[in-house]
Amino acid sequence: MLKLNLEPRAEPLTVLCLGAHADDLEIGCGGTMLGLVESGRPLAVTWVVWSAQGARHREARDSADAFLARAKTRDIQIKLFRDGFFPSQGVEIKEEFEALKRVSPDVIFTHHRHDLHQDHRLISDLTWNTFRHHLILEYEIPKYDGDLGSPNVFVELSQSVARRKVDQIIAGFPSQAEKHWFSTDLFMALLRLRGMECAATERYAEGFYTRKAVLSLESTS
Ligand SMILES: [Zn+2]
Repeated sequence: MLKLNLEPRAEPLTVLCLGAHADDLEIGCGGTMLGLVESGRPLAVTWVVWSAQGARHREARDSADAFLARAKTRDIQIKLFRDGFFPSQGVEIKEEFEALKRVSPDVIFTHHRHDLHQDHRLISDLTWNTFRHHLILEYEIPKYDGDLGSPNVFVELSQSVARRKVDQIIAGFPSQAEKHWFSTDLFMALLRLRGMECAATERYAEGFYTRKAVLSLESTS
């Protein structure tokens, strides 16, 4: 049975977050994670960044700590695979995915299948290859290549969460400040666009892709 139950309950919602590089998870699902933390349901999060070297390693860890500060438990794994070369490191990455099978999350956030970055695609493919009975939501990463599409799942964000997401990204990754796309207006624009597409109450949303959804007709009461 696949479900995402956000009703206040004692047991944690278990979440697995998979991001190829430092800042991918924050950009792709950072607002949703902040919103989940604020939902009142305790969270048990496994957060895996597959490549973060040099200054990006510390940034990735500190940023994950900040985004997950109020999670009940958090397992933050920052790995050292070579940025841009994931397909040639596929065996080693696959082995690390096998080790993640000990986690059986309620929901998994991963890269989009049709992302044009080769590292992102490999993480997406291995996610589906590894987890067969789980709710998987694929997030989007804006980029020069221009691969944004039409998401089919939206998570509404409050204005304060949307703003906090973007502020934390800008503050958390100073090594990216010189990149032409790494800016508050770009991140806010994408949240606003997705908020418009789902008529979000407070105008902002993150968009995701789901390939499969299984609806349970069982009562939860
Ligand atoms: Zn990336």
